Amino acid sequence: MTAVRPADPERLWSTLQTMAAMSEPGPGVTRLAYTTLERAAHARFAEWMADAGCEIAVDPAGNTVATRPGRATGPAAGTGSHLDSVYNGGRFDGIAGTMAAVEVARLLHEAGVETELPLRFVAFAGEEGARFGQACCGSKLAAGLSSRAELDVRRDRDGVSLADAMAAVGLDPDLAARTAWAAEDWSGFVELHVEQGSVLERAKLDIGVVDLISGSTRIELTVTGQASHTGGTPMRGRADALAGAAEAVLLAEQVALDPRHRGTRATVGRLSVLPGSITTIPGRVTFSLDVRDVDADRQRQSAAEIVTRMRAACLRRGTRLEARLLADTSAVVLPDWVRNEVTAAAAERGVPYRVLTSGASHDAQMVNRLVPTAMIFVPSRQGLSHVPEEWTEPAQLAAGTDLLLAALLRLDARAAAVAGVLENVGGAS
Ligand SMILES: [Zn+2]
Repeated sequence: MTAVRPADPERLWSTLQTMAAMSEPGPGVTRLAYTTLERAAHARFAEWMADAGCEIAVDPAGNTVATRPGRATGPAAGTGSHLDSVYNGGRFDGIAGTMAAVEVARLLHEAGVETELPLRFVAFAGEEGARFGQACCGSKLAAGLSSRAELDVRRDRDGVSLADAMAAVGLDPDLAARTAWAAEDWSGFVELHVEQGSVLERAKLDIGVVDLISGSTRIELTVTGQASHTGGTPMRGRADALAGAAEAVLLAEQVALDPRHRGTRATVGRLSVLPGSITTIPGRVTFSLDVRDVDADRQRQSAAEIVTRMRAACLRRGTRLEARLLADTSAVVLPDWVRNEVTAAAAERGVPYRVLTSGASHDAQMVNRLVPTAMIFVPSRQGLSHVPEEWTEPAQLAAGTDLLLAALLRLDARAAAVAGVLENVGGAS
């Protein structure tokens, strides 16, 4: 065994670019959940991991799990992130963490390191809510938080259910419940991800360690008015669904800006207008609302207040507003002890870091329901994410990867020590 080298920024960069090339045409990266492109990315991840000496398994949810055997069998320390993207997203969201996992596996393989217990590297399927309005599909199933029935309910904009989309790429939705991990197979989990905010950039730091992940309440709203001729219909007495929706959108912003809701972020990111004609008053508008907060009560109160005020505003305009809850998750507090292993690894290496919260949701928050989990953030230039301009410097990715590797080795040593102590008290019963 030789000493483990530091992460190779060029190699990391080129694996990341290989992934970026697997995209629908158009600006940025479009590699949606449960598409052949996403599966191709998983196949490539599996190939790289097999070359680095890992055993590969794909579970019924489509998560790819690469296991690197240890000296003994027992609970594994794990890392990973996702390979899917939003529509016209960037190259780093999710990919940074999975490519860091690939680099960690390669570095350990090259140095011939034998860990005490196995390590697992996971590429989660369907993390982005962009296609089905449901985030973290694969990790939710892994954490035992989702059911077969839910896969029929979630549909994309073409009406394809999550279950049908899974079946179309060769997965069996009927077996999805078997995805659930057993807690005893894991000692801890660390996800590396891009920050998707600008705290690290402003602080001139390469590393963030997450203590809290925001929750999210997602609602689909439909305003129904009366479509009619734009020329023949007088201005007074119209029931213009888009004018109602416009007021509703501004109300979401207004409520979230109110100091009483400080910390809440409310966004309307999708809107469709029917019949969508220059010469017809809009009769029906459907739009999304995403409310996020690190305080679960405030998040739901904000969402409820927004919908109530939207409804009143639409009524005043002679239109009707209907609301349908798409998804609702609470903020997650990540456990101290795993985070302390990450910060101890950073301190040991003399790497400055900041503890911060995550505004975005992540596979980590699902996994954490079963396995104690930590998150490492690397900077996002100008805080931009979910856009083609998403950017993280190669050296920053490498710095995050080195810390990830060090943290996994600490989790492994800790789990082995715990197992050793328990073995010695084993005869006491
Ligand atoms: Zn992500």
